[in-house]
Amino acid sequence: MNIYFDVDDTLVTWDHRLRPHVHAVFERLRHDGHAIYVWSGRGKRWEVVGRHALGPWVVTCHEKPLEDHHAQLAVLGVNPAPDFVVDDHYAVVRAFGGYWIAPPRLPFEQDQQMWRVYDAVLRCVAHRTAGHHSDLFIARWDQP
Ligand SMILES: [Mg+2]
Repeated sequence: MNIYFDVDDTLVTWDHRLRPHVHAVFERLRHDGHAIYVWSGRGKRWEVVGRHALGPWVVTCHEKPLEDHHAQLAVLGVNPAPDFVVDDHYAVVRAFGGYWIAPPRLPFEQDQQMWRVYDAVLRCVAHRTAGHHSDLFIARWDQP
């Protein structure tokens, strides 16, 4: 799948730290054959990709549509279309399907949200393999 990650409060914290387990989960996703993209409502965040050494796993950066999400993909040149998004804003997850991630919380070291992302990706693949292509897959951090 083409998996799109939001930046602020998804991959990085309010104080610009990288969320725990990002590298390990990105490695697993790539190993499983997925393509990882980074997008943000604040534009193409190459500085974040560079600062946290995410380049080896990330195909490219895009600007994320903040409204009218599907129509704006073409306007913003977002290609390919996302199959699965990870975002702390539910509107984006509702538009494309994916995992609604909880913003990082203290104690930071106990944050396991990236592994919840990985689990949701596995469940989404199983969901689609079972033939549910037309159903939007949505997993939420507040659900088991
Ligand atoms: Mg965000």
